[in-house]
Amino acid sequence: MMKLNNITKVYGSGDLKVPVLHGIDLQIEDGEFVAIMGPSGSGKSTLMNIIGFLDKQTEGTYALNGKDIKDSKEKDLARLRNEHIGFVFQQFFLLPRLNAQKNVETPLIYAGVSKAERAERAKDLLTKVGLKDRMGHLPSELSGGQKQRVAIARALVNNPSIILADEPTGALDSKTGVQIMELLTALNREGKTVIIVTHEEEIAAYTNRTIVLKDGLILEDKKVTT
Ligand code: ADP
Ligand code: MG
Repeated sequence: MMKLNNITKVYGSGDLKVPVLHGIDLQIEDGEFVAIMGPSGSGKSTLMNIIGFLDKQTEGTYALNGKDIKDSKEKDLARLRNEHIGFVFQQFFLLPRLNAQKNVETPLIYAGVSKAERAERAKDLLTKVGLKDRMGHLPSELSGGQKQRVAIARALVNNPSIILADEPTGALDSKTGVQIMELLTALNREGKTVIIVTHEEEIAAYTNRTIVLKDGLILEDKKVTT
């Protein structure tokens, strides 16, 4: 469970202060499927980065599974990220010189996992996301949707309980975007907490809860009962 209380975020300092989040109160339970919407610049990515321990709030508290992370050091935040969070981004961020399998394996190299085990994990995950016959392809040899599938497989490699996807369909045509949402929906059904940022209503419609941000505040928080 994620519990955010009165989270504020101010970038910069002195005369160059940019206040972005103005006091976010938010609780997300395990297994939820959440869409964060709102205009460009409203603070969606900033909020996602705080939720994913990529950035720290300026004020307020954020507790994951009851544990407040406020005073955590970068090393502890990195550990929390690795243990709990899988990230997916609009621009995929695949390593261009590595094939799909090696891209998925990369986080495991840092974790010290053996070569044989890395290969097995990567192949299993690429099969799971529907890329069994594309494992040896470079990113440049894959379509946008396939690249995003590789990125999702990579996000799953440490078996995280939370998937954070910042505009995962933003660079894809709508049919491909729908396929990516079907994949994220399947992962949510397996029990993962999935939080996405999107501008599109038809993408948000896959989730069970829509949170609308405006000027760094929650304007709306609507749950859909299915
Ligand atoms: P969104 O994802 O909703 O478009 P962001 O969270 O990316 O919004 O950004 C919110 C505001 O914070 C924007 O005005 C943006 O320019 C500003 N911002 C984002 N990151 C930084 C940064 N590292 N330093 C200064 N300002 C930033
Ligand atoms: Mg953004």
